[in-house]
Amino acid sequence: MPAAALSPEVLAKYEPVIGLEVHVQLLTASKAFCGCANHFGSEPNTNVCPVCLGLPGALPVLNAKAVEFATLASLALNCRVNERSIFARKNYFYPDLPKGYQISQFDKPLAEHGYIDVPTADGSMKRIGITRLHMEEDAGKSLHDGFRDSATRTYLDLNRCGTPLAEIVSEPDIRTPDEAYEYLTRMKEILLYTEVSDCNMEEGSLRCDANVSVRLKGAPRFGTKAEVKNVNSFRFVRAALEYEIERQIEVIEAGGRVMQESRLWNANEGRTYSMRSKEQAHDYRYFPEPDLPPLIVSEAFRAEALKKLPELPEARRARMIAEYELSRQDAFTLTAERAFADRFEEAARTARNPRRVANVLLSEVGGRLKALGLEQEQSPVSMAGIVLAADLLDEGKISSRQMKQLFDVCFEKGEDFAAVYEREKPEQISDASTIEPLIDTLIAANPKQVEQYRAGKKTVAGFFVGQVMKATKGQANPALLNDLVTKKLEG
Ligand code: ADP
Ligand code: ZN
Ligand code: MG
Repeated sequence: MPAAALSPEVLAKYEPVIGLEVHVQLLTASKAFCGCANHFGSEPNTNVCPVCLGLPGALPVLNAKAVEFATLASLALNCRVNERSIFARKNYFYPDLPKGYQISQFDKPLAEHGYIDVPTADGSMKRIGITRLHMEEDAGKSLHDGFRDSATRTYLDLNRCGTPLAEIVSEPDIRTPDEAYEYLTRMKEILLYTEVSDCNMEEGSLRCDANVSVRLKGAPRFGTKAEVKNVNSFRFVRAALEYEIERQIEVIEAGGRVMQESRLWNANEGRTYSMRSKEQAHDYRYFPEPDLPPLIVSEAFRAEALKKLPELPEARRARMIAEYELSRQDAFTLTAERAFADRFEEAARTARNPRRVANVLLSEVGGRLKALGLEQEQSPVSMAGIVLAADLLDEGKISSRQMKQLFDVCFEKGEDFAAVYEREKPEQISDASTIEPLIDTLIAANPKQVEQYRAGKKTVAGFFVGQVMKATKGQANPALLNDLVTKKLEG
């Protein structure tokens, strides 16, 4: 029972070893082996037919779209796609599985030897191996709650039977709960970019089983692992792993042995429980599926899939960091969703200065959204509005102070930038005769800064520009002001 019993010294003696198994539902219109709709939220038991119910004599027909999506996911995860893979029956008895078996893949999976590069705490990248990606079908769902007689009955919804899945199994390369969290986050991002799944964890489109063991640091072999099931968010995966690591260390420290078992995560209690269930007897009696031929992924099919692969998040971040002079953090913000990154880049390309668009988006709009706790979609300012602001700034038609004021109005009134700009048309002082005396006064009052400038510290010009802007409430024409300040300081 991990309490706060373990000292940091004891914890530090051990090294956790983690491997993750992710099931992801593929976003096909129909199921893996029949024509039933693959749709979450339908009336229970309406998307079913003899094939997905496993009625005698019904024969499966493989959905080509499911193969395409699984292939896309494999390629995006850097896997080698096998030209020939084999479907196999995984047999077990469970009420939500009327067929008595799942069609899966066993010793000949669709794809192998992949990896994801995961950023670590120190900023470097760590490569987590992917052992395999195989295709299988989902089982139905047992409904334990929500009915008047739920205390005594379990209901079944078989709509999910036959939903196409990709199972992605990692190598035991992960060493900390944070790394596991990061691996899952990066995987989800890749799958979303590839558009093979909606990865909606609440709806069960993405599910994770976490395998974990501990060993003394430097020990040559892995310890005995436990498999934690039923973890339905990445934060819970991290919490379950943290709990489980301490529990195992405690068992070992007390002179006991960790048992190889499946455990259930209880989110309310924040702990795992040993579970007695179908997984206890680990014999699925796999054998090749007699009703399906070997799956052949031809070179042409693979090449087609490769063409459909988008620029993936990590590559996109690297490119955008260079192209828009972004920090890594900002690159993450802009690439978090592919559609958003696409909209940003389309807009930025039409602007005078794409880097300025990134800057305005992140600091002005992003900053205000964050302060208000709003999502991008809730922003009153459109991408076109951001481009307009960036262009006006770039052309010197508004000062940055005026831009800030305009954005303030946008967020106060819920209006887009163009409308606010047209209405307010901030005044600009564009005649030198008004600005020059202000600069002269400042130069007379600040001899030290002038001296610094003349000694080569050119950034001091910004001080004078800032002071004039302040004095004119941001109305001085920035381009003109810059020119005049430079001229006077040089003179
Ligand atoms: P099983 O036979 O129980 O299914 P596998 O060898 O297929 O086990 O591995 C399942 C998952 O467990 C993989 O993600 C793998 O990386 C991970 N794993 C295997 N051995 C260990 C271990 N000793 N500690 C932690 N994870 C492990
Ligand atoms: Zn069906
Ligand atoms: Mg296994």
